[in-house]
Amino acid sequence: MISINKPIVQDTILYGMLLENDMATYEKLLVAVDLSSESDLVLEKARQISDADAELHLVYVQEPMDNVYVGIVPQSAAFSGLGDLEAQLGEELKEKLAALGEKFDLPTDRLHILHGSPAHEIHRFAESHSIELIVIGTHGQKGLQLLLGSTANAVLHGAGCDVLSVRIGANK
Ligand code: AMP
Repeated sequence: MISINKPIVQDTILYGMLLENDMATYEKLLVAVDLSSESDLVLEKARQISDADAELHLVYVQEPMDNVYVGIVPQSAAFSGLGDLEAQLGEELKEKLAALGEKFDLPTDRLHILHGSPAHEIHRFAESHSIELIVIGTHGQKGLQLLLGSTANAVLHGAGCDVLSVRIGANK
């Protein structure tokens, strides 16, 4: 057995042991990105709070274009040719996600493009992959934005695991 004479050394060792053994760390994280320039910030934060060997899944959800335009323009005019446009957009989004993954040194099997409503798909992915923490950006909405809700709000409500909202941009 090692005997420790100086209390300060003992304290340091105990503190180190506490950090190592008792502090909760997340091993499986879902990082939700909208592929804007803000994505780097969200991803950086996820990196900061996770172990080097943690499993980080990068998720972008592509919303169907007819969802986006419903109620704004008459259906017949808006929907013709949307399929092609959506496929083309999908390819570009895939490239952007791949570039982000490369920048942060993530393996390609951790990069996911899902289709549907962002909050719903993020919840589904989190559940099916036993995710422990969802990391998402938030703009600290005010006024009308707050009333309409945000992606971060929608994800927080109904999530079956912890959610970290990373404050970004304006409205600080
Ligand atoms: P928003 O409230 O829509 O401005 O988005 C805030 C955050 O929600 C972004 O920084 C992302 O973390 C996440 N997010 C928004 N849209 C998407 C999306 N389509 N797919 C995945 N995450 C998203």
